[in-house]
Amino acid sequence: MGSIDSNVPGSDECERSLALAETARSRLRASGLPPTPRNYELWYTYAQQSNRALNRDIDALVAAGSALAESDLETLYETHFGAGRMLGRMQAIGSGLNGRLGDVVGIISAALGSTSAYGDSLDIAARKLAASDDRAAVLAAVKALAAATLEMREQGLGLKARLEGATREIAELQQGLQAIRIESRRDSLTELGNRKHFDETLIEAVQAARDLGEPLSLLMIDIDHFKSFNDTYGHATGDQVLRLVAMSLRQNLKGQDVAARFGGEEFAILLPNTALDAALTVADQLRRTVMARELKKKSTGEMIGRITISVGVASLLAYDTRETLLERADTYLYAAKRSGRNRVVGAEQFRDYAAKVA
Ligand code: GH3
Ligand code: MG
Ligand code: MG
Repeated sequence: MGSIDSNVPGSDECERSLALAETARSRLRASGLPPTPRNYELWYTYAQQSNRALNRDIDALVAAGSALAESDLETLYETHFGAGRMLGRMQAIGSGLNGRLGDVVGIISAALGSTSAYGDSLDIAARKLAASDDRAAVLAAVKALAAATLEMREQGLGLKARLEGATREIAELQQGLQAIRIESRRDSLTELGNRKHFDETLIEAVQAARDLGEPLSLLMIDIDHFKSFNDTYGHATGDQVLRLVAMSLRQNLKGQDVAARFGGEEFAILLPNTALDAALTVADQLRRTVMARELKKKSTGEMIGRITISVGVASLLAYDTRETLLERADTYLYAAKRSGRNRVVGAEQFRDYAAKVA
């Protein structure tokens, strides 16, 4: 299959925008994927040819001959819009913080300036008082002192208000940064942590387990036969199922447990302070919860059966690095797939924990 081109006619700006919109809509319709704002934006940008890297990636996917999947569009969006957008927001917050920092420095130097001017006034008044013995001169010195004190107080109040304003704005900017931090570690489809979140959490969890001498278990989960599910019911329904599985995982976890979307239709769960046997029990509970749900196609209400998951479970051993822990969980997951799917496998001897439920 060749590359997709946009053929946008017209020189007038408005006409051009409408033509771009029409091209984007027809591409979207042809792809068979849902007309979400995100998908529309991708195709509009493609038609606009304003992001060469995006066009190159789409053309390469199309040239490879596969129909674009929702997961492809998600990756394209993350690559070409997600990070760039985040960067823009980070830059805005960065320059906001810089500006407020400048304000605070200005306020502090103004405060120092007025304190030293006040000190000078005190000096002058003290010298005048020491030198004078008549009542009028003393009165004049006290008056000058009172005026300088009043001015100092007024300036102080003004500076205090400015400082409070800057502090408030800095707190808001910090909240913005925190929101970006959370968003950058969240998977937008399932609302679980994303791969980045998982990778960072795994480092911390292994360290904490070592420091505290506590067990740590890892579950690697993969949906069974998801490709054929997608092919049969469409990607939008597939996405719905991914959300549902994520919800089932969340429901069965507690406390410090961390669930993340590891990629595609794979999930990873970290169970701190949990030894192998307890982890196998949690894994089997998850497996049962997922297979117990009867799936219904949202758009038509049609009942479409159930899906199952396979789970590999590994617990941290003395000689483990996080890579070997991950590898082991992955090996067990593969063993669960090979031995029939819809099952949990863990422990060194590839022990089959739960017999396949008919
Ligand atoms: P197995 O039981 O061996 O795991 O088979 P499988 O079909 O689940 O495995 P395979 O790796 O062949 O296919 C995974 C499929 O998951 C391919 C892709 O269509 C689907 N998938 C991955 N990410 C997404 C997504 O974000 N949305 C949807 N709808 N499907 C996805
Ligand atoms: Mg997979
Ligand atoms: Mg799978």
